[in-house]
Amino acid sequence: MMNLNSVVLGIDLGGTKILSAAVDRQGKVLCRDLTPTPVASGHPGVIEAIKESAGRAIGHKPFDTKAVGLAAAGLVESAGGIVHTSPNLPGWTDVSITQELARTFGKPVFIINDAHAAAIGELKYGAGRGCRHFIFITLSTGIGGGLVLDGKIYEGFSGFGGEIGHMVIDDDGPECACGNRGCWEMLASGKALEREARRRIASGEPTSILSYCRPEPERAQIDCLNAKTIHTAAVNGDILALELIKRHAYYVGVGLANIVNIFNPERVIIGGGLSNIGDLLLKPAIEEAARRAFKQPFKGVRFMKAELGADAGVIGAAALAWNHVM
Ligand SMILES: [Zn+2]
Repeated sequence: MMNLNSVVLGIDLGGTKILSAAVDRQGKVLCRDLTPTPVASGHPGVIEAIKESAGRAIGHKPFDTKAVGLAAAGLVESAGGIVHTSPNLPGWTDVSITQELARTFGKPVFIINDAHAAAIGELKYGAGRGCRHFIFITLSTGIGGGLVLDGKIYEGFSGFGGEIGHMVIDDDGPECACGNRGCWEMLASGKALEREARRRIASGEPTSILSYCRPEPERAQIDCLNAKTIHTAAVNGDILALELIKRHAYYVGVGLANIVNIFNPERVIIGGGLSNIGDLLLKPAIEEAARRAFKQPFKGVRFMKAELGADAGVIGAAALAWNHVM
C-alpha cells in the first residue's frame, strides 16, 4: 500500500482571492491554488469556487487529508461555523459555511477570523513560537488583530474579540464602516495612508509620488497610488511621502501604546503589507508608543515582524485544523 502524506487543507478566503493549500504538520505548504473570489456571485458562488480551488490544490496527489481549516475576514463564529458579516464579502449575512464544506470534503471543517488564524500561525510556526503573551497586528488595507493570551488565542465570550482596528483613537476622526469615527484603522491602515496622500496631492502639494504609480486603464493616476508607491517615493527622498509616513507612524504608535497598556504583552508581532515599509514606519511608531505607554510594560515588550507573510492566513487556518487532529 502506498504511503500517504498526512496534510490538512488550509483555505484563506479573502475579498479578492481564495488561497487553498495542503499544509503538513510542520506548517509547510506542499502545494497551493490561488483563484479570484467571485464576490458578485454571492455565497453559493464563492463556496463553489472554494471547492474547485481545494480540488486543484490537492488534485490526485498522494495525501491523506485529515481536516480543513478556513480563515475569513469579518465577524466569524468559530463554534457555529458561521460568517456573520464580512467587509470583503458584501451580502453575506449569517452564512453557515462549514457545514456545506464538511459535506463536500467528508472531513471536519473549522473556521476562524483571518487575523486570529494568522496569530495561531505565528504562535505555532512563526514569530510567536515559545511566547505565551503576544498581540498580533496586521497593518493592511484595514487593521486586524489576534490576541494570544496565556499561550492560547483569545476569541472572547462569543468569538468576536480582538477587533483592535476598531478601537477609537480620535472620536472626531474620519467615519468608519463600523459606524464609529476615528477608529484605529481609519487613521493607521493602508487605506488611511492612501486617503491622506490623495487629499494632500489634490490640495496641490508638490510631490513625486504619482510618478511611481503604475497607470491602470480607466483610472485617474491619483487613484493608482498605494502604500508601496508612497514608500518608494519616501525612500527616494520625497518630502511629502516622508511626511505622510511620519504622520502615519504617529497614529500607529498611539494604537501600539494602548495595546501595551491593556495587555502587557511579551511581544507585539506586526504583519500585513504596511509592515513592509519597515523601520521608516515602525521605528517612529515604536518611539511614539514609548512616549505614551506605561514605562514598566513597555520595557519588557519586543516589537517583531511577522514571519509568515502573505501565507499567514492559510498557514494559520491549517494550524487551527491541526490543533483538532489527534
Ligand atoms: Zn471602526
